[in-house]
Formats: sequence, C-alpha cells, structure tokens
Amino acid sequence: MACRTLSRPVVFQSLSRRTSALRCFTGTSYAAPVVEPNHPGPVPAPDTPASRRERLREARPFSDFLTDNFNRQHDYLRISLTERCNLRCVYCMPEEGVPLSPPRELLTTPEIVMLSSVFVSQGVNKIRLTGGEPTIRPDILPLMRQLGDLRPRGLRELCLTTNGIALHRKLEPMVEAGLTGVNLSLDTLDPWQFQIMTRRKGFDAVMKSIDRVHELNKHGAGIRLKINCVVMRGVNDQEILPFVEMTRESDVEVRFIEYMPFDGNKWSKGKMFSYNEMLELIRTKYPTLQKVVGHKNDTSKTWKIPGFEGRIGFITSMTHNFCGTCNRLRITNDGNLKVCLFGNAEVSLRDILRESNGGEPIDEIIYDAMKASERDRQQGLAVQPVLDKLASSEKRLLETIGLAVKRKKEKHAGIGELEHMKNRPMILIDRLTHVSDTGSAHMVSIADKQPTKRIARARCRVVFTSKTAVQLIRDNQIKKGDVLGVARVAGIMAAKRTPDLIPLCHPIMITKVAVDLTVDDAAGNGNGSVDIEATVGCEGKTGVEMEALTAASTAALTVYDMCKAVDKGMRIEGLRVVHKEGGKSGTWVEGVQEGI
Ligand code: SAM
Ligand code: SF4
Repeated sequence: MACRTLSRPVVFQSLSRRTSALRCFTGTSYAAPVVEPNHPGPVPAPDTPASRRERLREARPFSDFLTDNFNRQHDYLRISLTERCNLRCVYCMPEEGVPLSPPRELLTTPEIVMLSSVFVSQGVNKIRLTGGEPTIRPDILPLMRQLGDLRPRGLRELCLTTNGIALHRKLEPMVEAGLTGVNLSLDTLDPWQFQIMTRRKGFDAVMKSIDRVHELNKHGAGIRLKINCVVMRGVNDQEILPFVEMTRESDVEVRFIEYMPFDGNKWSKGKMFSYNEMLELIRTKYPTLQKVVGHKNDTSKTWKIPGFEGRIGFITSMTHNFCGTCNRLRITNDGNLKVCLFGNAEVSLRDILRESNGGEPIDEIIYDAMKASERDRQQGLAVQPVLDKLASSEKRLLETIGLAVKRKKEKHAGIGELEHMKNRPMILIDRLTHVSDTGSAHMVSIADKQPTKRIARARCRVVFTSKTAVQLIRDNQIKKGDVLGVARVAGIMAAKRTPDLIPLCHPIMITKVAVDLTVDDAAGNGNGSVDIEATVGCEGKTGVEMEALTAASTAALTVYDMCKAVDKGMRIEGLRVVHKEGGKSGTWVEGVQEGI
C-alpha cells in the first residue's frame, strides 16, 4: 500500500481518474486499467492480467477527490440501501418506525451501481451495505452481483451490516456475489431480552444466520464475522461477560458499541456504558485481557483473551473519537453524501446523477440504454447526446464529492455549512481542444527549459461597504455557509484548473496550493474586508503566477458570491502577484527591485 501515497501532479491525477470513471459509469469497460499520460512505461512481465491490473492500480496516487485536508484517504464507502427495517431496536428506531420517503427519492439499483463505480474508480476498495435493514431490499441480490462485478476495478471487500433476521435465507447467493464480511447486530443472548430490545421476535432466526456463516466458512466461504452489541446501562450490560465467553471457542469478533445519541432515541449519558467501564468489568473475570494491534483505519479498539479463538472490539464513538484515521464516506438511501456520521451536512449525489436523465430516476431500462450508447461509442459508432450528459454529470459528481471531502472536519462536529452548497452548480469549462496553428494566439514552447522549483504568491481583497458582512462572516452566520472555508477550497480547486480557464497556460504539475483568508475589520473605512493570499508551488518549466492569481481571484469571487445578499456594493481590489521565486528571472518581490 505504500506506493499509494506517492505524490503525483494533481492535474494529471484528476484527469486520468475522471476518464476511468466515465468508462465505468456505464459499466462497459471494467477490464482496462487507465495508464496515465506520464506513466513511466509498460510494466514488465505480468503474472496474470488481474495481478497486472492490481499493480497498476497500486502504482497510481490516491485520488485527490477522496483525500481531505488532513490527508485522510477515503477508501471505504458505506451505502444505506433502505430506511425500512424488520426490527425496532430501542436505541435506533421508534416503535412506529420512521416516516418513509417517497420511492422516487430513493436511489435505484442502477444509481447505486453507478455511484459505487465512480467511487471505486477513485480508489474506494471497500463497500459496506447497511440501512435500515439491507437484507429486506427486494433486489439486494442482483445489486450485490453488480457490485461484485467491480472487483476487477479495485473493490476488495463487499460487506454487509445486518440484524441477521433474513440473512440465512440469502447468505449463499450473497457469498457467490462477492460478500466478504458480515457485521451482525445482536445485543443479547437471551430470547426474551431480544424481544424487549428489538420490540420483535426473531432471536432464533439471528442465531441461524450466525450458524450459517460458520457453516459456509467451514467450506471456505471466508466471511469475516463480527457481532455488534450496543451496550445500554441497566438494559443489557449484564450480558457483556456472556458475549466475551462467545469468543472462547468461536472465531468471531464481538464488538461492544457505546450507546450513541440519534434523533429521538432518548439517549442520556447515564444510559451509556463507557469503554473504560467495559474494560474494567471484563478484566474482573479475564485479567489476562490483552490489546491487539489493529489496522490504522480501525474504528474499533481490539482486545483478546489469550487462548480464546475470537477477539473483542470496542466502538468508542462517545468517549474516544477515532476521527484522526477515519477513512469512511457514507451515502444515504436517498443519495446524499455524508462525510461524517455526526455531521448534518449532506450533499445530493442523486440529483447530479439524474441530470443525465432529465432529473428522473435511472432505472434498469435507462441504464441498459446508457451502456449500449457507451458500447457504440467504443466501436466508433455515433456518440449519442446521452453520453455527453453522462460525462458532464460525472464530472460534476467528482467535483462535488471532492468539495465535500475537503470540507470534512478534523474531528466530528457539525459541518452544517456544507448543506448550503447542496444545489450549487460547479462551473465547469471544457478544456480547449486546439490552438490554431496559424492564429496569433499560441503557447510558448517550454520544451528546452529546465524544471526548477517555483513559487508564486498573489493577493487581493474583498472590501465591504457596511459592517454587516464582516460580522456575519466572523459569526459564521452567512446563509450560504462558512465563507472563509468554502472560498479557500474554491481557490485551491481553481489553481489546479488554471490551464482549463486561461487559454495559453500550460498544464503544470502543482506541488502545493495554500489559500489564506483573513478578516480585516479596519479596512474599507471601517466596514472591513476579507484579505486573500494564495501561494502556489511546483517543480516545473514555467512559473505559477497564473495559478496563484487564479486561486486568489476565485477565492475572492466565492466570497463575493456568498456575501452578495448582504452587501451589494462590495468591491474586489488589488489582484496582483506579490512574490515569485524560481526560473531564469530568480526571485521577485513586490516593491523590491527585480532580480534579487
Ligand atoms: N439493521 C442493520 C443492523 O442492525 O445491523 C444495519 C443498520 S444499523 C443502524 C447499523 C448499526 O448501528 C448496528 O450495529 C446498530 O447496532 C448500530 N446502532 C444503531 N443505533 C445505535 C445507537 N444509538 N448507538 C450505537 N449504535 C447504534
Ligand atoms: Fe433495524 Fe438495525 Fe436499527 Fe435495529 S439497529 S432497528 S435492526 S436498523
């Protein structure tokens, strides 16, 4: 996995991955890996086509779209398949269930497959299906088969979180489809208590599912089984030790989950049984309890009792957050992307996806037509307009996903500002396909120049005409959201797209972009300003002044866009380069003699 972190130019990275995503969007070309424009050359003597594909994938840098500002690489996607459930666990659902969404608002199976394809093309290697209760989705098996087909493109794990009621009936075809892991929820080993905690019968069915997993594993199914147990004080905390005992003979991981507050589940701190309390309790009976070193992205802390077959895990969302290594993204059943379980902010991927179908749900028939169009295109037949729409919505999807991921907070907390960006279209300007041979505009050849380290810094400011905007920005009360945060991301993304916007600009391998925004209360006759400074670095043959100017001006335009409702007269002023380093002309600083 080490080579996944190789740093590569962001510009090429995003373009090549986008191409790959387009082909897999319609599911027609899973087999072919994408070789990047500046790929070092053919890979020597492949063992098999599959292993060669795997190596090429490993050699690619991890997607910029799925990497956040804290360098967390999101390669794990959880998809909710339904809001329905056949149980009513007291900590999760009210007795009467939850209000159901109109069917057209929910993702169709083709839409789930299309979204999954895009995420896998960007480096997601693990998908977990959850819910509600995913096994009650009528088309769960065909859906899992289509997701299983993503394995040649990089999907390594296809997992399910289930209450186990219906699992035993569907387990075998699921394994055939590619199921690799089951997290099964079971909060008690007592059938009566089960009925109290889930408000339904079904204990025997759940045990049957557990037995079936073990049985299939004896025949080599290789399903990783974990049992999830939410611990509530005074309800099932007396079952912790019996659950630990389950790990004596059985190769299973029992995971104790701290009870979490969700809308309407009547959470109180007193009902939560903490990780430390659980450890203390388990140690009273099993003093040899040992910590197991886990994987860096594990959300659970794993322990083991020496001599026992299984392991014990703890999901400690309430007392010890694991945000620092969080690699997950979530898609809700109505197609919203959630970058954090505890964040309110959601952005609709469904709406972007459906743009290619006039805003209507994409069903099997439409999806088959899209795939046929893509096959036609590959065979050199006429390209149908639907493909253009598809490509455009795919671009927008990636941009939207990238923006949402970049907005992920360091630690879980509300990220409400993102919701305001839900329906904001990203302005995408197609790359110029040609520059006239004879026309007066032409790009200067840089073939003979030597690559050097270059830095450019540009500044500008947005000056306000009343004190309102600055006050609202400081309080994060601007209706469209967090002005400084959104403008920063916009500036960074714009720097990377400079050659797409400025006709004669060469694509450059940018190695660094930083956009700093500061609020100055005194500027503009005391009405205040937002001062913007963008710094761009590269190892290249041309300078990065244009990239720095593009970043600063786009950040300023974003501030303008987000504040125009409260200050119509604001001005963007003073856009200029203030510093540049590298190249033949050396260092230049604004106000200082050139050529220092
Ligand atoms: N129905 C499936 C199941 O129960 O496994 C999948 C969906 S369920 C919402 C996913 C997981 O969330 C389950 O393991 C469940 O125990 C856990 N969960 C639900 N509400 C919770 C809460 N308030 N605190 C902690 N975990 C919770
Ligand atoms: Fe249903 Fe799972 Fe929630 Fe229980 S935890 S009510 S099984 S969705």
